[in-house]
Amino acid sequence: MPVFSHPELDAHEFIAFHSDPASGLRAIIAVHNTRLGHALGGCRMWNYASEDDALTDVLRLSRGMTYKAALAGLPQGGGKSVILGDPRKDKTPQLFHAMGRFVESLSGKYIVAEDSGTSVADLHLMAQQTRHIAGVADAQAQASGRTGDPSPATALGVFIGLKSAVKTGLGRDDLNGVRVAVQGLGNVGFRLAQHLHQAGAKLFVTDIYPPAVERAVQELGATAVGMGEIASLDVDVFAPCAFGAILNDATLPSIKAKVIAGAANNQLAQARHGQALFDRGIFYAPDYVINAGGIIDIHYEGAGYDVAVVNAHLEKIGSTLSAIFERSKLEQKPTAAIADRMAEEIFLGH
Ligand code: NAD
Repeated sequence: MPVFSHPELDAHEFIAFHSDPASGLRAIIAVHNTRLGHALGGCRMWNYASEDDALTDVLRLSRGMTYKAALAGLPQGGGKSVILGDPRKDKTPQLFHAMGRFVESLSGKYIVAEDSGTSVADLHLMAQQTRHIAGVADAQAQASGRTGDPSPATALGVFIGLKSAVKTGLGRDDLNGVRVAVQGLGNVGFRLAQHLHQAGAKLFVTDIYPPAVERAVQELGATAVGMGEIASLDVDVFAPCAFGAILNDATLPSIKAKVIAGAANNQLAQARHGQALFDRGIFYAPDYVINAGGIIDIHYEGAGYDVAVVNAHLEKIGSTLSAIFERSKLEQKPTAAIADRMAEEIFLGH
């Protein structure tokens, strides 16, 4: 497994590998850039097919966090960690205690949070061993009903970003009657659908989990559609909220929506698909910009959490996206490339 010549190494500041035979922990922490502050990023637990896959994943994810934090206007850098293991079978308190000690050993250069395969409960176990942890609601927050789950803020941020994309792409100031296809009704997608419904949008939804679809039909008057149809529906907006790489060679030619604005990470299968969307005149809200609500929320987690302050910060997702669309038009470049450039101007300082 090459490390120094790894294609995803980019300009990573450091990578730490750790194995703890007593608990069975095998984990990697990658810190991409700390110019703006300590690196913050989730801990993913996944049954990787190989160690190489785990390294590739952590490097890509931590780089992404640098860009995301920079454009979200947060004083922090990008990092990420992965635990090699099956989140359905291999979780034990000892494993997360060992992960907490691993995080602690880096003296705060990396701050761990929740990600796919890990939960707030797992973070509480890590918190017994490290202070360098975010997204765990303290006692005061718990008393006010918050759990540390960033999904509500992510959904609100996506809603704000979607409105901004609709304004630019469709020239509409409101969502009344705007047709939106939501793919995936999980923690973020369902909440996004609720916001959209309240704003008067007409919803088309799909999910592999039928009860979620049924709930959206009952509560939000949504129209249920097949999983294979959602990306090609004749709608105004396509909101991918399930999984990555949905904008690919197979889906792109049949997309009819003028705006793509959803929560899923890594929506473009490859960078060239961003160019293809631009060439077709489709307004794509770069994923890491529109779905930054979660890390914005985590930034404010802790004593003195003020909903008004968090919501004011979430509103900035809309203005950042407007600036990206404007510059994309001016420079005739895809929005994803513009977002990367704008992030680099912030975290590299030039
Ligand atoms: P989730 O697991 O709660 O929801 C995903 C939903 O997609 C589930 O309901 C699942 O059944 C559905 N799904 C899976 N495969 C599908 C398919 N083939 N067709 C239709 N539906 C399918 O996850 P989430 O927390 O809601 O996150 C959604 C996306 O947003 C993910 O890509 C995630 O990485 C990204 N994201 C989430 C957050 C957050 O705060 N939760 C923050 C940033 C980005």
